[in-house]
Amino acid sequence: MSLTAMHWIDGALYEGHGTREMPILNPASGTSTGQLCLADGADVDAAVASAAAAFPAWRDTSLARRTSVLFAFRELLNERKGQLAEIITREHGKVLSDAMGEVARGQEVVEFACGAPHLLKGSFTANASTRVDAQSIRQPVGPVAIIAPFNFPAMVPMWFFPLALAAGNSVILKPSEKAPSASLWMAELWKEAALPDGVFNVLQGDRVAVDGLLDHPSVRAVSFVGSTPVARYVYERGTAAGKRVQALGGAKNHMVVLPDADIESAADAAVGAGFGSAGQRCMAISVVVTVGDVADEFVGKLKERMARLVIGDGMSDSDMGPVISAESRDRAVSYIGAGVAQGASLEVDGRDVSPKGDADGYWVGPTLFDHVTPEMTIYQDEIFAPVLAVVRVSTYEEAVKIVNDNPYGNGVAIFTKNGGAARRFQTEIEVGMVGVNVPIPVPMAYYSFGGWKASLFGDTHAHGMDGIHFFTRQKTVTTRWLDPSEQHGVDLGFPADTVTGVA
Ligand code: NAD
Repeated sequence: MSLTAMHWIDGALYEGHGTREMPILNPASGTSTGQLCLADGADVDAAVASAAAAFPAWRDTSLARRTSVLFAFRELLNERKGQLAEIITREHGKVLSDAMGEVARGQEVVEFACGAPHLLKGSFTANASTRVDAQSIRQPVGPVAIIAPFNFPAMVPMWFFPLALAAGNSVILKPSEKAPSASLWMAELWKEAALPDGVFNVLQGDRVAVDGLLDHPSVRAVSFVGSTPVARYVYERGTAAGKRVQALGGAKNHMVVLPDADIESAADAAVGAGFGSAGQRCMAISVVVTVGDVADEFVGKLKERMARLVIGDGMSDSDMGPVISAESRDRAVSYIGAGVAQGASLEVDGRDVSPKGDADGYWVGPTLFDHVTPEMTIYQDEIFAPVLAVVRVSTYEEAVKIVNDNPYGNGVAIFTKNGGAARRFQTEIEVGMVGVNVPIPVPMAYYSFGGWKASLFGDTHAHGMDGIHFFTRQKTVTTRWLDPSEQHGVDLGFPADTVTGVA
């Protein structure tokens, strides 16, 4: 069935003024499932106008009411999450169980946001000075833009919009043009949950839409997730326009395997984290650093497991689906060639894949390189495909240096039975999210998600209390009510801790 994915503005589908379109592709077959409208400047203006018009009434809506809308959204999402997972699998390619997992992790943030009345509480100090009270309150920032990548069409938007809405902001979501339909499905769910029209908008498009949102004076904050060059660009352009921006970028995540690790569970973890979602997770493990003499045995265990993986259409019974596009497949193939040319040892070649699915899908099989060194491009660049590199080192210190010298700092894991080594690692490692015998340490909704170095531009991470802080502005109010018995009189002295004011 062919469809046209439009924008969602002011509580309804919106055709838009833009004349540019692009096909929506199913990566498992390479076939088009519909056409996507790409926004032009007038569409950006319409989406922002809708969010700006809806903002004051939503900001002034009681917390009790806002929370009940969030709770209704949570109930609908929980009831129908299978539909959303199918949409994700069709457009992204990840297997259905993985798509269900993505929705579940997004739902956790919705559940966290249902606690908004507690999260948004300010503070109050009675009698800070004599008969003077002080309080801090948190207020929404206004219309906010969320710009999402293709690899988590539901979860990444849900890292942001539940808290943005709970705090009283209105939202313009710009999904990836490669996976646009999940956002429209969620927009319809918001309507059903009785969110007022205009509070949640979806703007379909590419960089024209992004630039329009970054430059628009009514957009007050931008949450971006994508590759590092675009994240840096969005951060610089958005902050130059006076906006609050958090821009989460790319990654090169390492898994350090110490000689005392439980080899079987470490190998299971490396294969799951390296090849799940075809290596297209921002927390995917793309480098295994083996320490000491564990390398030969570990590489053997990886190969055994990789030989059993079934590659195919995510709607069938497969372990791993295709990559997102023909361009992405060709890029991965070219990196595999570069790895061979630069002297890495190609242990499993994903170019030889026999998928359980349409031959025209964008297939790359699980690929394993051993004896990789930090000078090689397969080590340096984020490939974002099922290509795993093994780097061999002799000592723990060398392993830490490799991770810390890497420009990215999103996720890292250590596998060991030594609690002292793990504790030292979590202190010394310069990465935002650390797993100890956990390969993909994605924080729970009530903690915050974010990397260090080139993996995040801005000061605040996603969700958790950082999310509340990002989507609110703090105001401090100092109040003095005259006591009925108080005498009037002018005092030109600087207010100090007296009956006249605060120091
Ligand atoms: P991308 O950078 O190509 O696109 C992300 C968003 O930016 C999309 O909405 C896209 O339309 C827009 N965009 C693309 N090029 C642009 C340009 N030149 N100017 C303005 N906007 C532009 O990323 P992607 O390929 O969709 O997603 C994969 C990347 O996202 C990987 O690098 C991955 O590591 C990263 N990612 C990071 C996290 C994280 O939490 N750090 C999470 C998910 C994905």
